[in-house]
Amino acid sequence: MDTIRMENAYINKIKQINKNGKYAVLTMGCQLNENDSEKIAGILKESGYEKTEDLSKANVIVFNTCCVRENAEDRLFGKLGEVKKYKEQNGTIIAIGGCMMQEKHIVNKLKESYPFVDIVFGPHTMQDFPKDLYESIVENKKIEDILDIDGNIIEGMPIVRDDKIKASVAIMNGCNNFCTYCIVPYVRGRERSRNPQDIYNEVLSLSKQGYKEVTLLGQNVNSYMVSEKNNGKDVNFEVKKEDGKIVTVNSFATLLKLINTIDGIERIRFISPHPKDFTDDVIEAIAESNKVCKLIHLPLQSGSTRVLKDMNRKYSKEQYLSLVEKIRSKIPDVEFSTDIIVGFPGETEEDFEDTLDVVIKVKYEQIFMFIYSRRVGTVADKMENQIDEKIKHERFNRLKKLAEEEIEEGNKKYVGTIQKVLVEGKSKTNEEIYTGRTETNKVVNFEGNNEMIGEIIPLKITSQHVWYLKGEAIKL
Ligand code: SF4
Repeated sequence: MDTIRMENAYINKIKQINKNGKYAVLTMGCQLNENDSEKIAGILKESGYEKTEDLSKANVIVFNTCCVRENAEDRLFGKLGEVKKYKEQNGTIIAIGGCMMQEKHIVNKLKESYPFVDIVFGPHTMQDFPKDLYESIVENKKIEDILDIDGNIIEGMPIVRDDKIKASVAIMNGCNNFCTYCIVPYVRGRERSRNPQDIYNEVLSLSKQGYKEVTLLGQNVNSYMVSEKNNGKDVNFEVKKEDGKIVTVNSFATLLKLINTIDGIERIRFISPHPKDFTDDVIEAIAESNKVCKLIHLPLQSGSTRVLKDMNRKYSKEQYLSLVEKIRSKIPDVEFSTDIIVGFPGETEEDFEDTLDVVIKVKYEQIFMFIYSRRVGTVADKMENQIDEKIKHERFNRLKKLAEEEIEEGNKKYVGTIQKVLVEGKSKTNEEIYTGRTETNKVVNFEGNNEMIGEIIPLKITSQHVWYLKGEAIKL
C-alpha cells in the first residue's frame, strides 16, 4: 500500500485570505461517504471556515456524492438547481466530490447543464481539495480534478466529526469483487488497506476524546490486507501500542483483536463484510473479542443460487446458510443483519421465494432492502432480462411485509431481558424520552437524563415494536 501524508500548505494559504467564511457539506451516500464528508469538513474547518446549515449563508458548498443508487443522481441535480441562485446572488463556491464524479457521463452532464459548478473532484483526489479551492478562489477558474487510476492511501487529513459518542474509521478503500450490479469497483478502484499503525493511532485518539464505539469501514472489510498479500507484499506489520508492546497485524482478524485492546472503546462494529471472505480466523476473533458487537452484518443480496451466480457474488444459498450456522455454533447469542436486492435481472418468482426462505431461516435483526436499479457501466445494466417495475415493487412490498413481521416477532425475545444500551441522546420527537442502542443495534427508547448520554447503561426491556424497543432504567 502506498501511503502519503497530507500537506497543509494550501490550507494555510486559504486561511490567510478567508474572512469569517462559512461552509456546508451535503452528504449523499453510504457510511464511507459520510466518513469522507467528515474529512472535507475537516479541511474547511482548518482553512478557517465555520459550519452552517443555511445554504444561503455559505461561502463554500460541497456536495459529496455517491453513485450506488439512482436516486442519488436525482437528488444531486435537484439540489444543484436550488443552489444556483446562491451562486448568482453571493458568488458561493460550488464544489462536487465523491464517487459519482468518477462517472464520465455525470461529469459531462455537469459541464453541459450546470456550468456554474466551480470544482469537480473525485475520491482519489480529496487530499488536493485545498489546492483546488484556493485556485478557484484566487484565480476564479473552473477546476476538474479527477484521477482515473486508484489513489494512494492518504493519512493526516483533518476531520470534523458531528457525533461525539460513535465514530467511523475507514480501514480500506476500493473493491476487487465486481458484483455485476455494482459500480463501486469502477469508481473506487482496487482494494487498498491502511497501515494498521495508522488505524490503531486513530482509534486510540478517538478513545482519548471519549468515543465509546467505533465502526471499521470498508467496501469489503474482511478482505483487509488480502489484496496486498495476493500481490506478494509482506503484510506482517509490527504495531507499537500505547504501552510499548509490539503486536503483529497481518489480517482483518488480527486487526480486530488489536482494536479490542484499546481502553475506553467499548463497542466495535464493522461494515460491510463479504460472506465469501468470512474466514474461520475472523469468526474466532469476533468470538474472543469482548468489545466486538455480536451483531454481524452479512449481506445476502439474493437467496437464489442462480441469481447469486449472475450477481457474481461467489457463494450459493446453501453456502450462505451454512456460514450462518457455523458462525452461530462458534459465537453464542450472535445475531445478523443483511442487505437484500429485489428485482435483479432475470429474477423469477421462484428465485424471489428463495430470498424469502432465507429471511425466514436466518431471522435477521435488521434488513436493508433495495429495489434493483440499473447503474450505467455495470454488467447487469446490459442484461436483457430486466424486471418490470411493477413486479419489482410488488416483490419489494412482499419482502418488506415479511421482514417487518419477522423482526417484530424476533423483538419479543428482548422483552423482560436486561440490555446494555449505549445512550445517544434525546429522542427527536419527545423531549422526555432518551434513546440508545443495544449491542445488536436495536433502538431502545426510555425515560432518562442528560448524565446518561454517552454511557452504556443497563435497561430492562418492557415492550417491543417493529423498529424499536421500550425500556426502563434499572440499578444492577
Ligand atoms: S463487494 Fe460487490 S457490492 Fe460490495 S462494493 Fe464490492 S462490488 Fe460492490
